Order: sequence, then structure tokens, then C-alpha cells
Amino acid sequence: MLFDVLTIFPDLFRSPLEEGILRKAREEGKIRIRLTDIRDFADDRHATTDDRPFGGGEGMVMKPEPLAAAVEKVREDGNAGRVILLTPQGRRYTQDVARELAAEESLVLVCGRYEGVDERFRASFCDDEISIGDYILTGGELAAMVLIDSVSRLLPGVLGCPDSAGKDTFSRSLLKHAQYTRPREFRGIGVPEVLLSGDHGEIERYRFIEAVRRTIERRPDLLARERFSREEWRLLKKQGMAGAVSAVTADSDDER
Ligand code: SAM
Repeated sequence: MLFDVLTIFPDLFRSPLEEGILRKAREEGKIRIRLTDIRDFADDRHATTDDRPFGGGEGMVMKPEPLAAAVEKVREDGNAGRVILLTPQGRRYTQDVARELAAEESLVLVCGRYEGVDERFRASFCDDEISIGDYILTGGELAAMVLIDSVSRLLPGVLGCPDSAGKDTFSRSLLKHAQYTRPREFRGIGVPEVLLSGDHGEIERYRFIEAVRRTIERRPDLLARERFSREEWRLLKKQGMAGAVSAVTADSDDER
């Protein structure tokens, strides 16, 4: 998958892209990331990419011409993908949106700075607008990194263990169960016996119940979207959790 990133701070991306899974994915050609410095498309000798807002007020606004020229350049260089503006005013980024984007062949990510971008650029050049949460960053670069990281790990062959992304928190509307590794005892605290039993069926059932328990405690809003199989309802009943889960899920009575 190809990501073109338009930014005035391309160096911000270098270290995150040169470590761990993203580095490997790049080396193996599973993802390609091209960084474009918007300043290269400014038409004055100071490489100006921002100006004062018409009508007055605080801060500076990113000028439309360098942004437009940068998009046109990545189009010329073969990226026909969706142009996404990172902005706190966009639709909220979730794992569902990450899955939607992972199905694309290429994306163009536009990182704002200052007070944001000129409205005419937004309206004429951007196909989508994404916010990574209800808070304000100094620029869109970290948001673009979040998007690249979360989309890349969904692409075939990027994670070492192919099943891993499918079992993560949010793969269903459930948080992942707690996890343990060696040692068997840490500062007097042991590991749940069932995890040492070697009984894979029992471990799966235990993990499912723990995932539901965790989700009820921490994110009941998520559970409202989850649908359980008959077998899962049987397990929930056995654990005395069916009442608590019924109160929040969308499942019909038949499924229960
Ligand atoms: N003045 C803008 C407003 O009130 O909506 C905020 C501008 S912010 C300081 C500068 C840039 O950071 C934005 O143009 C955007 O690219 C990026 N940014 C800030 N918060 C973001 C968020 N939650 N998600 C995605 N991008 C964000």
C-alpha cells in the first residue's frame, strides 16, 4: 500500500518509520511511504506556506496554493488514492475506519499546522477528513502516523502472526482479555491456573468470559454493538453474566 504524506515537517516521520514492524513492512515492500515537504511547493524564496487569516484573529492559516500543488504532484507521481485531511473537525478515527482504509491501494495524507488549512483547499482537494480524537494536536503529523501505523498492521503479511490483528481489542466490540507471560509468579502474584492447564478449549472459554467482563467494567458502550453466538450466550449464562450483558447488547431474544 502506498501512503503519500504532505507535511512541512517530514523529519518528524523518520524515526517512527525506521523501527519495528513499520520498518520491516517497508523493507519487504508491503508499504511504501513517500514524504513530501509542502514548502517545496511555495512560490517565494522564503518558502512561505502560511499567512494571516482574512478577517483577523489569532494564528496563521496554511495557504491553499502550495497544498494544492503538492497534491497535484503526488497525483502526477501515480497516487490516485483518497486525499485525507487530518483535522480535529473530521470523522472520528476508529478500528472500523482503519479496516476501511486498509482496503485501499493508496492514500494521500495532508498534515495541517497552525490554525489549520485554507477552506478552499479543504473543499476542493480533500475527499475525507479524519480526527484521531477530541483533543488538539500542534499538527497533523502524529495523527498521520497513527493512521499509517494502525492501517499497516492490518495489511496481509505485515504482522508476524497472521491471526494477531483478528484477536485484538476492537476486532469485535470487545476489549482483549488480560495477558500473562513468564515468570509464573511475580511479586507474590500468580497466573490464573486455567492458562497453565494446556486445555485450549477451556482457555478460549476463560478468555472470552474475561474479555466480556473487562468490557462490561471499562467500556459498556462497546458491548452495546456486540453480537454473541448461541454457544457464547450459553457460556455467559453459565457464568451468571447473561443479565449484565443483555442489559447492554443489541442481540435479539432468539439469539439468547
Ligand atoms: N484551529 C483548529 C481548530 O480549532 O479546529 C486546530 C488546528 S491544530 C492546532 C493544527 C493541525 O493539527 C490541524 O490542522 C490538524 O491537521 C492537526 N490536528 C490537530 N488535532 C487533531 C486531531 N485531533 N486529529 C487529527 N488532526 C489534528
